[in-house]
Amino acid sequence: MGETTNISWTDHTFNPWIGCLRVSPACDGCYAAHMMETRFHRVEWGGPGIGIGTRERTSKANWRKPIAWDKKAAAEGKRPFVFCSSLADVFDNAVPEEWRKDLFELIRATPTLVWLLLTKRPQNIVKMVDAAGGLPGNVALGTTVEDRTRADANLPALKVAKIELQPLFTFGSFEPLLELVVPSQKFMPDWVIAGGETDQGEHKARPSHPDWFRALRDAAIDAGAIFHFKQFGQWVEACQDMRNPDGSHIEVDPGTDIAASLWNEATDCLLTPDGQRYTPESLSGDTAARLLTRMTTEQAGRILDGVIHDERPEVSQ
Ligand code: SF4
Repeated sequence: MGETTNISWTDHTFNPWIGCLRVSPACDGCYAAHMMETRFHRVEWGGPGIGIGTRERTSKANWRKPIAWDKKAAAEGKRPFVFCSSLADVFDNAVPEEWRKDLFELIRATPTLVWLLLTKRPQNIVKMVDAAGGLPGNVALGTTVEDRTRADANLPALKVAKIELQPLFTFGSFEPLLELVVPSQKFMPDWVIAGGETDQGEHKARPSHPDWFRALRDAAIDAGAIFHFKQFGQWVEACQDMRNPDGSHIEVDPGTDIAASLWNEATDCLLTPDGQRYTPESLSGDTAARLLTRMTTEQAGRILDGVIHDERPEVSQ
């Protein structure tokens, strides 16, 4: 539950507790529920009035891990990032206040670590932070934004938290990106992390069109934000020249009859029936699926227009 991770935007993950309740479309493919409820039967997803809703604190040994990471980082003069709660949500209503107080105490006791608190409940941040005794100085606050509805609801709430609580920085996790989302400059987080979805058990990854990532990248950079691209997920543009790690070409099959009928031999690209390229605005989930082709996350990779966007905010020592 305290891990050194392969998530590109963090160095460690730490889970103070496990368990949650689905609250938005991004939760449909919840990795945590798939792991901790369906596979290991450790907790049951839910909350007040919905499902059973158990939460379980992780072990004392697990809670000691950040102390060791902090000591090591201090000795090396580094400020590693810790993604807190990949298997839960820090600002979950069903979690006792005391647990958050304990977590914040741990965060204060590890000042070299940069704690990334990512939530799908940003409306709870200010009140729950106040109840837990205030925001430790080594915290960055973030929210998930998978579609325009969540952009409208979550980004203003994150902005309020930024003004009220003065975190190190704010960040938005645009993953899984389910439609075109272009935040206004006013509500742009300091750090934009984007990515497509991966399969989780029975839940099959929904497609994110690469043009949505491009639009988000451009908007982030225009607003002076830092852009990090985690992964395409399991779908890539059917007209993209995909290569294996050894450089050999990956044969892309448009896959469906509809896609095949739109395939343009001359441009090696999928076009609208009247010969136009699709625009990001014209893509709904279904249309996007026809334009994309499914492959493994590793094959799809994370190179967007020839660039690996690995950027992170600088945090002073
Ligand atoms: S908020 Fe996160 S942990 Fe909770 S159900 Fe949604 S995806 Fe899963």
